[in-house]
Amino acid sequence: MVKILCKDINSGLRLEAVIKMYRSREPREMHKAICADCGKECEVPFKPQNGRPVYCKDCYQKHRRRY
Ligand SMILES: [Zn+2]
Repeated sequence: MVKILCKDINSGLRLEAVIKMYRSREPREMHKAICADCGKECEVPFKPQNGRPVYCKDCYQKHRRRY
């Protein structure tokens, strides 16, 4: 499933970089991050930036449902 998330675009990546990343068959470069919700260590396919909350998969789903 290829789905471009607004979250990735908002995290400062250029759209074309995001598309390239999603289209790539190479393993994505994963960045370690601490979930802003549960505090669990997780890995995200984009570089976490200061001031931007990063959520693990579970919490991301949870937060997305709120909108
Ligand atoms: Zn979490």
